[in-house]
Amino acid sequence: MTDIPQDHPRYESLLAREKVAAGVKMGITSIQGLIAQGRGESFDYLIGERSTESALYAERAAVAALLLAENPVISVNGNVAALAPEKVVALADITGAKIEVNLFHRTDTRVHLIIEHLKASGASEVLGKNPDASLDLSHDRRLVSSKGIYTADVVLVPLEDGDRCEKLVKMGKTVITIDLNPLSRTSRTATISIVDNVTRALGNMAKLAQEMKKEKKEELVKLITSYDNKKAIAGAISEIQEHLKTMIAEVEY
Ligand code: ATP
Repeated sequence: MTDIPQDHPRYESLLAREKVAAGVKMGITSIQGLIAQGRGESFDYLIGERSTESALYAERAAVAALLLAENPVISVNGNVAALAPEKVVALADITGAKIEVNLFHRTDTRVHLIIEHLKASGASEVLGKNPDASLDLSHDRRLVSSKGIYTADVVLVPLEDGDRCEKLVKMGKTVITIDLNPLSRTSRTATISIVDNVTRALGNMAKLAQEMKKEKKEELVKLITSYDNKKAIAGAISEIQEHLKTMIAEVEY
């Protein structure tokens, strides 16, 4: 990985880019993952490369859902494995969630490499190697584990594709997504749409989970029942608008 000077004004973003590129070289991230990262970066620019108020609102509700779930599962793809493996493991440990590898561009080798990468980051068990259940989809993201995603009541699917998200929602699951694009089909279909960078969101959620674990069950239930996903998405779009207005003011000054 290229050394990025820590005082570079866009250090975090450049580091993420290096991690995804390294993921491709290691064989855990698909080449198409580079395009997805680029698309994410452009939305992050518009958002102002920060976790906004609406993102934190959704992240809090998402953590409550994970903590209350009977069978929570975190679905991991090649980009998430390259960007934030330790954060996935930390969040899974605190919330008691299972981890399952699920890929659009699936090969047995990639699944194996991602599982090993997650294990090297501290995961004890990672599902996804021998999928024994299938979702009603025509691509490889249909292949799931019967004790993982297939029977999960709450699924965290960072960087999801819209059609699997829709299928999971139709199956009656609480689907939590992390996607910097508030207009994507994924964001518009999920139960809880987190519009934030996956690296920041998973870090925030692990911290929140540590604190919220001590809260009473009723408090967590209240957080979920009062949560309004339309408000979260509309909030994300208007935060982009506000950020752009600030940028216009800076340019005009
Ligand atoms: P959809 O079917 O939901 O409309 P899409 O086809 O627009 O999805 P993909 O190309 O499948 O999207 O996946 C890329 C998505 O992931 C983009 O919406 C992008 O904003 C988001 N993304 C990429 N990198 C990150 C990241 N690091 N953090 C959060 N979101 C990201």
